[in-house]
Amino acid sequence: MAYLMTETGAELLQDVKRFCELEVYKQSTQWDREGHASEQVLQMLREMGYYSLTIPETYGGLGLEAVDIAAVLEEMAKADAGLAVSIAGSNLALRAVLAGGTEEQKEEICGRIAEGQIGAFCLTEAEAGSDALNTKTRAVKLADGSWELTGTKQFITNGSTADFYVVAAVIEGEIKPQLFLVDAETAGLTFGTPEEKLGIRSCDTCEVQLNGCRVSADALVGGGAKSVLAALNEGRALMAAMAVGTAQRAMEEAMKYGKERKQFGKAITENQAIQFRLADMQIKIEAARQLTAHVLQKMDAGMDFSTEAAMAKAFAADTAIEVTGSAMDVFGGYGFMTHFPAEKLLRDARVFQIIEGTGEMQRSVVAAHLLKEGRR
Ligand SMILES: Cc1cc2nc3c(=O)[nH]c(=O)nc-3n(C[C@H](O)[C@H](O)[C@H](O)COP(=O)(O)OP(=O)(O)OC[C@H]3O[C@@H](n4cnc5c(N)ncnc54)[C@H](O)[C@@H]3O)c2cc1C
Repeated sequence: MAYLMTETGAELLQDVKRFCELEVYKQSTQWDREGHASEQVLQMLREMGYYSLTIPETYGGLGLEAVDIAAVLEEMAKADAGLAVSIAGSNLALRAVLAGGTEEQKEEICGRIAEGQIGAFCLTEAEAGSDALNTKTRAVKLADGSWELTGTKQFITNGSTADFYVVAAVIEGEIKPQLFLVDAETAGLTFGTPEEKLGIRSCDTCEVQLNGCRVSADALVGGGAKSVLAALNEGRALMAAMAVGTAQRAMEEAMKYGKERKQFGKAITENQAIQFRLADMQIKIEAARQLTAHVLQKMDAGMDFSTEAAMAKAFAADTAIEVTGSAMDVFGGYGFMTHFPAEKLLRDARVFQIIEGTGEMQRSVVAAHLLKEGRR
């Protein structure tokens, strides 16, 4: 089963499938080994508009529904989760601007992304991880109204490759952070060395350092913490879709391998134990996908979806770990070897339990809602 999509979304999905068949599946193992994707494919992603999927129609976007976008990202994650996470990282920056930016900022950022530029969302710091608003980066207002930003951001997706940055920083005298737009060319903006990661190794992740970066008065994005949370809520729903994609790939790889692998004179998939294992994998995947679809429908309907987004992200991330682990079991000893696909999928899946809020943080959102609503 799949998401129920619009016609435009379904056509786009076919394009993405073709693109992944031609450019991604064959190279993804090599990117994993080298720790980065090929420049050429990253450029193609920009030029083909995969970073622009979430631009609203009012700002020149395709006017896709959230379900369409999720289906495309699921497909991309199925081929290579790192590429999908890069798109999601840029999307977070865009969503934050759409949530609280001025009309000029929205038009500027949507225009830049439509032209092939990408963003990075800089929230996490050494002391601000799960406690995401415990920002230490400072914004000082200068006499001419411009801002000076100083601080260090950790684990930033597209950290060294973005064209613009949406940075959380606290204005002197305030407690909660505000968001600022920082151009990649800004003096004083530097980057750490690329992080050596367990999974999603095709994706650029690094520290972003702001050493007294001067930005103009109109770089301040409105909404502060509210814009941060709005971006994260939407981001979590898309992360859930990507976790589903990674799990779906693992199930399909396990099924393919299981049909070919012979033990005791027959394919291992002829054993009911293996068949039930595959069926359980697909049942969990579909449950995660449909929980995600429910969030996306609420999003499109303009309803509050924050609790459901946390549920979907937690469930899909756990499902991705369980399913990729099951795939490894089906592969037996070969699953442990790096020249078979199972181990990379398990490593890639692990990020979904951390990025954009750990499993515990998603459960905190759900529990807070339960206790407030008193739901039985
Ligand atoms: C590959 C990757 C890409 C990322 N990209 C970005 C990005 O683009 N932009 C960005 O801003 N950030 C990014 N992050 C950061 C990510 O959002 C944080 O790593 C995540 O929110 C967890 O924060 P932390 O790593 O500081 O863990 P911590 O907050 O230190 O958590 C450590 C452990 O303690 C638990 N814990 C903490 N507080 C509580 C509590 N109150 N109750 C119960 N358990 C608790 C956590 O669940 C976790 O298990 C990225 C991370 C990764 C791994």
